[in-house]
Amino acid sequence: MAEKKELNEKKIARLIEQLLVELGEDPTREGLKKTPMRVAKAYSFLTRGYRQKIKKVVNGAYFASGTNHMVILKDIELYSLCEHHMLPFYGKCAIGYISKGKVLGVSKLARIVDMYSRRLQIQERLTEEIADAIMKETQAEGVGVVINAKHLCMMMRGVEKQNSSMTTSAVLGSFRTDEKVRQEFLSLIKN
Ligand code: ZN
Repeated sequence: MAEKKELNEKKIARLIEQLLVELGEDPTREGLKKTPMRVAKAYSFLTRGYRQKIKKVVNGAYFASGTNHMVILKDIELYSLCEHHMLPFYGKCAIGYISKGKVLGVSKLARIVDMYSRRLQIQERLTEEIADAIMKETQAEGVGVVINAKHLCMMMRGVEKQNSSMTTSAVLGSFRTDEKVRQEFLSLIKN
């Protein structure tokens, strides 16, 4: 996977300018003059997950927790780019885990979602990467992640199915092996 300190935004802007020409546009016209650099900055932001490290994202925000209850965070907004078309997919993520005495700050769960979303992704892998990271960072007994998302590459091109959404899930540890735990998770994240 690409690991780069910083993007060369000027170079990306030049490529976008070339793309505009190939698309039949005139990149010197008023409305497009600043577009290449704007697009470069937008891509820099939307792919910044490549340049983030999990240790820095979590930043030691662990808290001791005596009980092994299930922690649930749901309706986490998610915006990503599909790796097949570089078009957005967006939706919501629900996370559940059972700690072994160590819980993560709630905002950190959302930041982990952002870190893996801001890359070129497929929804299935994104779901797994979030689950793996939380399992590893919290050394949890089990983790479950469910993502429901709409893909613009399906909505505005191809099959043009505007109302379809995709649901993916990843379950690890006790969420995988214990049917009761999994059912509790699924019932807790229901709206
Ligand atoms: Zn796509």
